[in-house]
Amino acid sequence: MKLVIKDLSKTYKNGVKALDSLDLEIGVGMFGLLGPNGAGKSSLMRTIATLQKPDSGSIYFGDVNVLEQQNDFRKVLGYLPQDFGVYPNMSALDLLDYFARLKGIAKNSERKEIVKRVLDVTNLYAVRSKSVSGYSGGMKQRFGIAQLLLNNPKLIIVDEPTAGLDPAERHRFLNVLREIGTNHTVIFSTHIVDDVNELCHEMAILNGGKLLARSTPKRAEEEL
Ligand code: ADP
Ligand code: ADP
Repeated sequence: MKLVIKDLSKTYKNGVKALDSLDLEIGVGMFGLLGPNGAGKSSLMRTIATLQKPDSGSIYFGDVNVLEQQNDFRKVLGYLPQDFGVYPNMSALDLLDYFARLKGIAKNSERKEIVKRVLDVTNLYAVRSKSVSGYSGGMKQRFGIAQLLLNNPKLIIVDEPTAGLDPAERHRFLNVLREIGTNHTVIFSTHIVDDVNELCHEMAILNGGKLLARSTPKRAEEEL
């Protein structure tokens, strides 16, 4: 399903214009949102995730009017915010089971199956009995993905997930995203050009709340 953003603007109370009449269409696959710090990436992602309201503009996901049908949209959305990572001292297995319960998956056998599946996809099955609070930064990011996959979202939004990861963890994380991107629409923000080159079939460059370029990664590399 296509995400269609039209004429989206947001000025914060301090006068910063974070989104400036932004138009953007995103189809199935892995979409990279590239831009320096302060470009408006998080503002755009929080707006799509319906956590903050734009001043003007519209967002459609298929037929769903995202800004007006928030409850319908949230059911098909998986969002991993930046700096997500304070977890209780519980094993990944118990915590995912708990989240699955919160998401309304009542049947024990059903929860077991889906929890095993998301642990497999994120490469965390081997450490499922360890406490998430003791996970490394990269493991926590992958746990965040495991968590958002529980309700089988149609659109996945991940905000700067590789920031602060060491090269090996970054690589492991990108591999997980690549796998997920084969059958989901994934929007992924980063300020690292190599992230989009390695991963994305399409990308946009955001700067000052405006779209600077819309391209395939290889072409963008030549333009930069
Ligand atoms: P809005 O205009 O959407 O109501 P606010 O200006 O009230 O937004 O800020 C919302 C929250 O974001 C506040 O808790 C504020 O502390 C925080 N915030 C303020 N400035 C920044 C910033 N530069 N970057 C990130 N968060 C900020
Ligand atoms: P990015 O994710 O690309 O770093 P952001 O969307 O976080 O960009 O920020 C865009 C601009 O808006 C920055 O100048 C930032 O300081 C400002 N900003 C972000 N959130 C808030 C907020 N809640 N209140 C005020 N200013 C904000």
